[in-house]
Amino acid sequence: MRRADVAIIGGAIVGSATAYFVKQLAPASNVVVIEPDSTYEFASTLRASGGARRQFSCPENIEMSNFSLPFIASADETLAVDGEPAHVEWHADGYLFIVGDADVAALRANHGVQRAHGVAAEWLDRDALRARFPSMNLDGITVGVHTPEDGWCDPNGLLQGLRRKARALGAEYVAERVIGIDHDARLARSIRLASGEVIGAGHIVNAAGAWAKQISAMVGMPLPIEPLRRFEHYFETPNPIEPLPYVKDTARLAFRPEGRGYSGGLVDSDETRGYNFDVDHDYFERVVWPALAHRFPAFEACRCRRTWSGLYEQNELDGNPVIGRWTGRMENFLVVAGFSGHGMMHAPAAGRAIAELIVRGRYETLDLTRLGYRRIVENSPYRERGIL
Ligand SMILES: Cc1cc2nc3c(=O)[nH]c(=O)nc-3n(C[C@H](O)[C@H](O)[C@H](O)COP(=O)(O)OP(=O)(O)OC[C@H]3O[C@@H](n4cnc5c(N)ncnc54)[C@H](O)[C@@H]3O)c2cc1C
Repeated sequence: MRRADVAIIGGAIVGSATAYFVKQLAPASNVVVIEPDSTYEFASTLRASGGARRQFSCPENIEMSNFSLPFIASADETLAVDGEPAHVEWHADGYLFIVGDADVAALRANHGVQRAHGVAAEWLDRDALRARFPSMNLDGITVGVHTPEDGWCDPNGLLQGLRRKARALGAEYVAERVIGIDHDARLARSIRLASGEVIGAGHIVNAAGAWAKQISAMVGMPLPIEPLRRFEHYFETPNPIEPLPYVKDTARLAFRPEGRGYSGGLVDSDETRGYNFDVDHDYFERVVWPALAHRFPAFEACRCRRTWSGLYEQNELDGNPVIGRWTGRMENFLVVAGFSGHGMMHAPAAGRAIAELIVRGRYETLDLTRLGYRRIVENSPYRERGIL
């Protein structure tokens, strides 16, 4: 039987970041990544909009961004292989959260936490918003927070960069599907692949995104992570608008400039959970366009050019990821999933955290204990209160 020190299930952005950091910390380790689809057709990573921000309420999320965003910004060089750079296309064009009266206190509290964690977060009252973003209709908006050092990138560029670099450092990608995990009461032993092959492993990492619940079920570990379909749209308007950051409001409207137009959407949290990739071509006209045209009248004349669907790996307990070992039960089985819409931007920090747990036996740079599985067992949510 083939043996690996670390077997990672799921080789998209989170699995590849984990493989990269394990090889960084332990170059001699034998790392195997099991990923059935090298085209990543249904992976959330390829369907993401690429936003990366520090505007969160939980210190862990802010600190994950404090590490991940500079990592992404310099990834073209860091992830270069034989002088060939990665192509991450980082745009440091900022984020803007806007809220009405009801959410001012929450935004103020979050802003305070962000500032305490070194984030360049600017508090903008209505006059400042009007001066900075003259195209915006301020009806119902009281204040905003602008984080000019946030931005967005090409998620596929980051994934391919991490994957290529992990392979260059010696990680092996196996184009197979995991169908079972052999284990006893205390340890996960080996991974069974659809081909019939069995790979023994010292550590097994579940990085299967919206499929993570199925993987954990193979060792009897319940995970409250469900697939939540979300649409993303590319749209254009003939009307001029000043350069915009990534704009988000409390109704979950979120969009940013992309090429000659804009990319964005409006998440429906009540969407039925499931592996549904069907596209509702009326959704933009019915839901997104009215919200856009209300907030920026220049979008009244906008045209939706393309709509696609993708899955959030939604943690139904609290919207935060589950990161870490199955402490007290199966210590060599780790989960890094459930990012609920933030997995692209937090993949570098989460991958580094898992690598530290495996290689060093503890968190060294950033303590993510509060995002561990214990809160799931205790049914004790640790909620993110930033706009999701
Ligand atoms: C429309 C949309 C917009 C988004 N926008 C953003 C954004 O702006 N910023 C942000 O940070 N995040 C965003 N996200 C969320 C982000 O895409 C995810 O959090 C992130 O991609 C999760 O990465 P992952 O590697 O965990 O999962 P995935 O990319 O889904 O990868 C999981 C992998 O596991 C593999 N797998 C599944 N089953 C098995 C098995 N049995 N054996 C082996 N492998 C298996 C799959 O093939 C897949 O490649 C968005 C998501 C969507 C849908």
